[in-house]
Amino acid sequence: MIYNNLIAGEWSSGGELIQNINPSNTDDVLGDYSFATAEQTHTAIAAARLAFPTWSRSNIQSRAEILDRIGNEILARSKELGQLLSREEGKPLAEGIGETVRAGNIFKFFAGEVLRTGGEIMPSVRPDISVEITREAVGVVALITPWNFPIAIPAWKIAPALAYGNCVVFKPAELVPGSAWMLADIIHRSGVPAGVFNLVMGRGDVVGEVLATSADIDAISFTGSQGVGRRLAQHAMVNMTKVQLEMGGKNPQVILDDADLETAVNVALQSAFFSTGQRCTAASRLIVTEGIHDRFVTALGQRMEALRIDDALLAGTDIGPVVDQRQLSKNLEYIASSHAEGARLIFGGETLLRTHHGFYLAPALFADTTPDMRLNREEIFGPVAGVIRVKDYDEALAVANDTPFGLTAGIATTSLKYASDFRRNAQAGMVMVNVPTAGVDYHVPFGGRKDSSYGAREQGRYAAEFYTAVKTAYISSH
Ligand code: ADP
Repeated sequence: MIYNNLIAGEWSSGGELIQNINPSNTDDVLGDYSFATAEQTHTAIAAARLAFPTWSRSNIQSRAEILDRIGNEILARSKELGQLLSREEGKPLAEGIGETVRAGNIFKFFAGEVLRTGGEIMPSVRPDISVEITREAVGVVALITPWNFPIAIPAWKIAPALAYGNCVVFKPAELVPGSAWMLADIIHRSGVPAGVFNLVMGRGDVVGEVLATSADIDAISFTGSQGVGRRLAQHAMVNMTKVQLEMGGKNPQVILDDADLETAVNVALQSAFFSTGQRCTAASRLIVTEGIHDRFVTALGQRMEALRIDDALLAGTDIGPVVDQRQLSKNLEYIASSHAEGARLIFGGETLLRTHHGFYLAPALFADTTPDMRLNREEIFGPVAGVIRVKDYDEALAVANDTPFGLTAGIATTSLKYASDFRRNAQAGMVMVNVPTAGVDYHVPFGGRKDSSYGAREQGRYAAEFYTAVKTAYISSH
């Protein structure tokens, strides 16, 4: 089957056809996806602009019902959509379904938020004047998303965008057009007027470039790599476009001597290796104090031996394949450079053969690593983690913060004193105490500091900051 783009309320063919391939089984093709041309992208932007005046002033009850309908259909079809997601991205089925449920919940959350978009009334410092502060839609927003959360990230951008009355041009990642298409189909049938929501699948350097450079876009929300994010920010500056960027992480997981060993190992295993390490919130630097170091490394290595790395759709699979050959080669290159820099391999790091050809990699744990090694400085985005031995909490905190990134930071400890200090002083947007660095709720803000993020927070009520513009009105009764 050929899957087309949704532009101005019509499914439009055109552009090159790209095969969507299952990373668990490269003989399995999910379908042919029509990648939009630059011209089609311009058409989608124009359609969104045309639809904006009516949509931004539409009745809030009908907007809430549309979002609720989208959420309900996603939830009702979560098994089917989750399976598609796992087939195209490679995360285990339970995670694929879980991510889909999250996407459904996000739409339902923002269905409620439509009705709660209030304002403020303040007295003026001048007589007989009142000041009214309200929020309005920003305009046409471009949403550019990565491949690692094929439905949740699109959902957490599209739902608030539509809720607050914006029109959307959505460009999913090249590797995961399947989930994006299904979501677009659900949105299309939910009752949104033509042009309000447009899907333009395609290449970053074609579709993405048009969205990044168009003066007809009012705001861009992006999740992806740091290099592309920086480029988008530069373009946005030229056009004075509002921009929100979620980029990489090099997240620390601190383990203190007083930690419960089982909790520490569970948290590290989850954070570093699950979802094949392909989460911007994954922890890849395990910073461990001396007293627990050897016990922790041994126990974590043993737990890794028991992990089942296999086809994402097979029952019992803990970790699926790497997403594609390019990412697998990148992971292997970091594994080789870690050996070369003198890190000691505790477990894994080799490619694996399974029933079908896929991009299978045994998660890799290195010990005796130092903070300046490449594996501790650069975002790998794979199941590769390094243990850094430190003498005490103060050194652990310093090493944790010694990174240009600042998305999540985790600590395993039974000490209230250290947990509180870490929560206060970790330079990250999200801090986790005795829970994995990855895995967050859908109703609270998400985002980081330093080079990880730029602009307003995503998700929860905080999403309003990006998807609305504030208006201050002065009203005199005379
Ligand atoms: P990754 O390396 O994880 O794929 P990218 O930053 O390359 O991360 O991709 C994230 C998203 O950004 C994808 O949808 C991709 O197509 C898009 N993208 C890539 N290059 C550009 C670009 N030059 N302009 C706009 N978007 C781009």
